[in-house]
Amino acid sequence: MTKGDFSSLVSSIQAVASPFRQYLNDLHDKYQGAMDGTVADYIPELALADPNWFGICVVTQAGQMFEVGDCDQLFTIQSISKAFVYGLALEDHGRDYVNSKVSVEPTGEAFNAIVLDEVTNRPYNPMVNAGAIATADLIKGDSATERLKRMLAMFKRYTGRDVDVNVPVFLSEKSTGFRNRAIAYLMLNFGMVTDRVDETLDLYFQQCSIMVNAKDLAMMAATLANGGVNPVTGERALDEHYVQDVISVMLTCGMYDYSGEWVYRVGLPAKSGVGGGITALAPGKLGIGTFSPPLDAKGNSYRGIQVCSDLSRDFGLHLFNVAEAEYKLDDWLTGNGADSW
Ligand code: GLU
Repeated sequence: MTKGDFSSLVSSIQAVASPFRQYLNDLHDKYQGAMDGTVADYIPELALADPNWFGICVVTQAGQMFEVGDCDQLFTIQSISKAFVYGLALEDHGRDYVNSKVSVEPTGEAFNAIVLDEVTNRPYNPMVNAGAIATADLIKGDSATERLKRMLAMFKRYTGRDVDVNVPVFLSEKSTGFRNRAIAYLMLNFGMVTDRVDETLDLYFQQCSIMVNAKDLAMMAATLANGGVNPVTGERALDEHYVQDVISVMLTCGMYDYSGEWVYRVGLPAKSGVGGGITALAPGKLGIGTFSPPLDAKGNSYRGIQVCSDLSRDFGLHLFNVAEAEYKLDDWLTGNGADSW
């Protein structure tokens, strides 16, 4: 048995024994019956999602994993990719250059708005489509294949497993993505992206079409929570100097037009996608991955929002929480909290 096998065995035994697992089971039961929201249907592949799919996964900074529900079900990462690709762009070019191409200002506009900063012509932030396309443009590589390979390798460092593009989803995104094409060409007009626009649009559609599951999203968040190092594989996914940049834009811009209220109510850096995923983290503590396809009016997974809200409230995870938490996370993870349940 290798050291890695041993530690995953230990963490799975701990996970079974922990009252935190029971907490998550109860949370799953609490929201499984909630039928609010609608599944995204702007391309046929997304409309096929089962509205009952529901998975919750939490990975601690120490690499313990807790999962309940449909945590192996694969779905497309969609906008969640934007946060992580932003990290890769920062590694490729440094903060100053990336900031000259993409601002970090939240916007009250829709995520796919065709709007740039009037003075600088920069897209507002890397989480709206304009900013994400400008960010994808920054990914280095001599060819389209090379750039995609670098992106997939980056995601693998976060998830700890190979990830791949869902080709039918990619082709659907590409064949219907006129608005994104318009945004990209507007940015080309202003010199915000290079003239390899069509290649970059393909790369953007491909990054949105990467298949992940709730466990991957929890692991990705836990990696950021752990300073950029995957807590299970020990591999660094993101240069430590850029972790705070990525987390900051997740906090201010990660949840579409709900970002302000999300910070107020939940207080965790997070990113959601129209595939039904949410990745959220409590820095220095844990990462959360949720998957449930029905989206609320703002485009965020309805059940995912409820789960993150409950976890944040019950364990005092809100970044600005200074009150004593109702439940002490460490006790719940190690078993001492069983009696207080
Ligand atoms: N592929 C989608 C688009 O560019 C992203 C949707 C999302 O998750 O926000 O429109």
